[in-house]
Amino acid sequence: MTTEALDVCAYLERAADALDLSEDVREVLMHPTRSVSASITVRMGDGSLKTFPGWRTIYSNALGPAKGGIRFHPTVDEHEVNTLAFLMTFKNALAGLPFGGGKGGVAVNPRMLSRHELERLARGYVRALKHDLGTGRDIPAPDVNTNGTVLAWMADELAALEGTAHTASITGKPIVLGGIPGRAEATGRGAAKVTMALKDHLGLADGASIAIQGFGNAGVQYAHDMHEAGYKIVGLSDSSGSVYSADGFDPSEAEAFKAEHRGLKGFADEAPGNDLRRAEADILVPAALGGWIDGDSAETVEAGVVVEVSNQACTVGGGDRLEERGIHVVPDILANSGGVSVSYLEWVQNRSGEEMTKEQVFDNLDRRMERVARQVASRAADDGVGLRAAAYRIAAARLAEAIESMGTRRLFNE
Ligand code: NAD
Repeated sequence: MTTEALDVCAYLERAADALDLSEDVREVLMHPTRSVSASITVRMGDGSLKTFPGWRTIYSNALGPAKGGIRFHPTVDEHEVNTLAFLMTFKNALAGLPFGGGKGGVAVNPRMLSRHELERLARGYVRALKHDLGTGRDIPAPDVNTNGTVLAWMADELAALEGTAHTASITGKPIVLGGIPGRAEATGRGAAKVTMALKDHLGLADGASIAIQGFGNAGVQYAHDMHEAGYKIVGLSDSSGSVYSADGFDPSEAEAFKAEHRGLKGFADEAPGNDLRRAEADILVPAALGGWIDGDSAETVEAGVVVEVSNQACTVGGGDRLEERGIHVVPDILANSGGVSVSYLEWVQNRSGEEMTKEQVFDNLDRRMERVARQVASRAADDGVGLRAAAYRIAAARLAEAIESMGTRRLFNE
């Protein structure tokens, strides 16, 4: 296990200083509790065997069983999994969910696998990590390149290994297998609710303009909800390119174009420099992969508000530079927590046996997101700090209380 502190631990250190947290609590939170690596060997369609490296990290289980997605991507490594597990820990704590933080990944390009190879990989991942997963220990969910089907294979494998239908052990399942309505919309909808709840804090005018990088699950839903609320979507991008119109787009038309042409390129004029960071817009929304705004690109951002829908959209240096420039940053651990909030509802539903309707899910989600957004804004105003610092202070205080309530003696075998 790595003992080197992650970059994102800077957020913890700042919160710990502000809250005057004990050295014991800092020491516990600076390192992942458990990080497991596995070699997942898969029988390929041509009869050969191929091995893929995989990881699962429980960063903290102070507040409950770990919770976080599993990512299938060629560039995933242990450091990325640990970083994302750290973010899940603070996201779940901020949202007030009874979960610790975890994350998993497999270094693979799933597009190079057949459906049967992908299924064997998903099931192999669960077999390799079966002692760690389970409803009271660690509850995976979908992430980049893992959808309901992949999670259904994983849930089935775990159930078979345990000889029981462990549907609460994995969330993001298809509805027919115990999944919950509204999960697909949850992240984008939650981020839109947060943005609207923070409208005054962020100094946004009616009809403020928005540029969104990444037009996938979260970006599309965010665009729809903000458009419906009267905001103007002026910039959009996906891996095919970026488009811009000062007059604004109807997201439904963009979605239809993308479905027909397999990308947004050609839907409208290309954004200046094909780079939405430089686009004129009141709100910039990174919703693709992390690290898009670093110390250098932060200099070029035109918007007055950045809403981090993707995890770690800003590097630590990039986020700091934006704030120095007077740009508000709505941090990932607040902006994209709608997804895990609805995963929590799926877990509750599976354990109670009582099913929720989509209306009930949205009502719960909307109230939850607005409440947490208001808490963060009010802490930021009281402490005279940015939204990220405020969010980490609230989350770190909760984690510290849990760790201290357990007694550090037990933790250190004194
Ligand atoms: P997705 O795969 O559905 O969509 C990603 C989009 O980004 C696609 O449209 C893709 O074309 C685009 N993209 C990729 N590279 C790009 C580039 N260089 N420039 C512009 N666009 C690019 O993913 P998603 O589920 O919408 O997730 C987006 C981000 O939000 C990810 O970072 C994810 O970790 C984070 N997130 C998602 C959820 C969720 O529930 N979906 C929850 C929390 C965080």
